[in-house]
Amino acid sequence: FKNPTIIDIHLFERLQFQATYDELTQVYNRRFILYILKKELERAKRYKHDLTIVLFDIDNFKRINDVMGHLTGDKVLKLFANVVKDNIRIEDSFGRIGGEEFLLVLPETPISKAFPLLERIRDILAEISGEKMFFTFSSGIAGFPQHADEEITLLHSADKALLRAKLEGKNRDYIFYKE
Ligand code: GH3
Ligand code: MG
Ligand code: MG
Repeated sequence: FKNPTIIDIHLFERLQFQATYDELTQVYNRRFILYILKKELERAKRYKHDLTIVLFDIDNFKRINDVMGHLTGDKVLKLFANVVKDNIRIEDSFGRIGGEEFLLVLPETPISKAFPLLERIRDILAEISGEKMFFTFSSGIAGFPQHADEEITLLHSADKALLRAKLEGKNRDYIFYKE
């Protein structure tokens, strides 16, 4: 890159995009959303703010792929990502952390505020996904400072809550609670 040409600049921008975004859904990729979580958690600790995370997993996604095909599965992922992205605040961050798993980071937000957002996302999805592509999601919610003060433990807490939501019948949101 000693003498950057136009092509080099395009290449640079493309690489920069790839390093940050998930190609399929165009939301943050795993690496970047986890980096944001780390930064936001540091900020929450420093300023003694609340921080809430929501870990999402699409319900019965394997069946969606099997019955309706991989391309429909991809469409479901894109639709879900768009609906969430379009319904969060500018300060919030959203990314895909695995196949059909997504993470939402809500700075300066107490846990209780996650519920109206999740309700809205469910309503919009039910409205626009139509009969042919209807799908649901489950989520696990965890917050700083109640549940954890490190990213890894916060993520584990959300994951435990998500597991609980699945075991209780899916299509629901659970808050982590210590047993
Ligand atoms: P549960 O309701 O318990 O969450 O079950 P599930 O079927 O959603 O979960 P499981 O983890 O068994 O299936 C996830 C599937 O997601 C398996 C994998 O083939 C599929 N998958 C992963 N990445 C992609 C992708 O980018 N596109 C598509 N179409 N499918 C994907
Ligand atoms: Mg999964
Ligand atoms: Mg799933």
